[in-house]
Amino acid sequence: MPAAIDIPPVLSPLTAFRNEPYADFNRPEMRAVYLAALEKVRGRLGREYLCRIGDRSLGANEKFQSLNPARSSEVIGIHSEATPAMAAEAVAEAARTFPCWRLAPVANRVEILRRVAGLLRERKPEFAAWMSLEVGKSFPEAEADVAEAIDFCEFYALQMLHLGAGTPLPQLPGERNLLVHLPLGVVAVIPPWNFPLAIMAGMTVAAWVAGNTVVLKPSSDSATIAAIFYELLGEAGLPAGVVNLVTGSGAAVGRALVEDARVRAIAFTGSKAAGLDINERAARSAPGQRWIKRAILEMGGKDAIVVAADADLDAAADGIVASAFGYQGQKCSACSRAIVADAVYDDLLERLQSRIPKIRVGSPQDFSCAMGPVIHARAMEKILGYIEIGKSEGRLLAGGKRLTGPEFDEGFYIAPTLIADVAPRARLAQEEVFGPVLAVIRCRDLAEGLAIANDSEYGLTGAVYSRDPQNLALARRDFHAGNLYLNRKCTGAMVGAHPFGGFNLSGTDSKAGGPDYLQLFTQAQSIAEKI
Ligand code: NAD
Repeated sequence: MPAAIDIPPVLSPLTAFRNEPYADFNRPEMRAVYLAALEKVRGRLGREYLCRIGDRSLGANEKFQSLNPARSSEVIGIHSEATPAMAAEAVAEAARTFPCWRLAPVANRVEILRRVAGLLRERKPEFAAWMSLEVGKSFPEAEADVAEAIDFCEFYALQMLHLGAGTPLPQLPGERNLLVHLPLGVVAVIPPWNFPLAIMAGMTVAAWVAGNTVVLKPSSDSATIAAIFYELLGEAGLPAGVVNLVTGSGAAVGRALVEDARVRAIAFTGSKAAGLDINERAARSAPGQRWIKRAILEMGGKDAIVVAADADLDAAADGIVASAFGYQGQKCSACSRAIVADAVYDDLLERLQSRIPKIRVGSPQDFSCAMGPVIHARAMEKILGYIEIGKSEGRLLAGGKRLTGPEFDEGFYIAPTLIADVAPRARLAQEEVFGPVLAVIRCRDLAEGLAIANDSEYGLTGAVYSRDPQNLALARRDFHAGNLYLNRKCTGAMVGAHPFGGFNLSGTDSKAGGPDYLQLFTQAQSIAEKI
């Protein structure tokens, strides 16, 4: 049995960082603040937003709408379906701006980033309301998303100050030796819809605070939040052309950006299929291209919580339920497999079964509802398809259907679903569902549970519940996941404390919100000067 790891922590200046506190929604006055912001935002629904290239606003002939997943006839924003030619214009603008922006002093870039954090902090309720309406997040989930965006800004600001000073090296006699971190050039930023502010903002600000210029192509399902964030960047003093915004499909605009010879790096977060497509296209050298494109790719998950026979079963059940059904299971870190030791399998199932009916499903703006709608009709159909597969592969114990009726309006609501006795290699145990569906798998003991957890093409998050330090040591040694949690849920990574990124086909393990993230947006130059 491996011994517990006992390495004293090495403190870096980044340990001074503190996370943005969460709002306390138990206080009626706090709820009132967020409901007032909702009313304000409701008055701004259905507006048209244009692409932003340098100081120009450009519309495309074709438009698309982003819709409220809780009420699908409600238009949140109207956006341009940009053409590949518009994507190329945006890259040209970013390339023109780069030679100037790369020279902007680090202190200035950091100051602008801190202003971005300050404005987000001031407008937390408003951004949360936009997210609640555009992607169906409950207010607590939406507020946590804004807090994470603020954390990324503050953390990367602090990190840039250190990176900007260069890395000290051993000095050779008669020389001054230094390692400096230079920006790369034009970065294409391609985020998903499920953390429409935090991930979109995190990747974008990391790129420009490191001295790069950006073409941002947001997800079409959350394009309004990106457009509003873009406005905020201008208010914070970010010069035009440093970030350029083009909206449109991944297949047209996303690919055009990825294949453009002037793009130096791609920061992508999204599905495995899109990530692999980007990886392949980015690897091909376009005519005139002078570099190997750097691809920072964070992808899907099939995250497992393993419960040992000696675990605190109530804590495990709470952690599994929170991880599986928070934001309707639409987190890359969501627990979609509970792998439970035989000795406590039936007991844990009962505890899960008793908790699930207490999860109220309904409007994301209703504070009493813990679950809202899934993002769109396509997602709903896909999830219901997996539920059908799951029913044939296991035993349906809860949920298993779409929720309809007057209180569900025209939203895409799916009941929290529990399917037991799923085999480790069943499709429901292997493929990412990205919805409120939990597969429960039986294992003999922790060692077998870890083997089942690792038998996946993904490797993003994972958790183990056990009271035995030897078991926890085994989990530390053998659980192959980028973010491992012991005796806690597998969602809710905090910037700074939980650098985030996955193994295997979950991505390039970039560790967003970690001490080395900004370096991914730079290239190191070693300078030796004879003195
Ligand atoms: P998606 O892959 O469909 O889209 C993500 C972004 O990529 C969008 O902006 C989309 O327009 C664009 N895109 C799609 N195909 C493209 C292509 N071929 N070339 C260039 N761009 C393309 O993902 P989604 O539905 O927006 O998000 C959900 C997925 O994201 C899930 O798989 C989830 O696990 C994953 N995710 C991962 C993390 C992580 O940190 N690992 C975080 C959040 C979400």
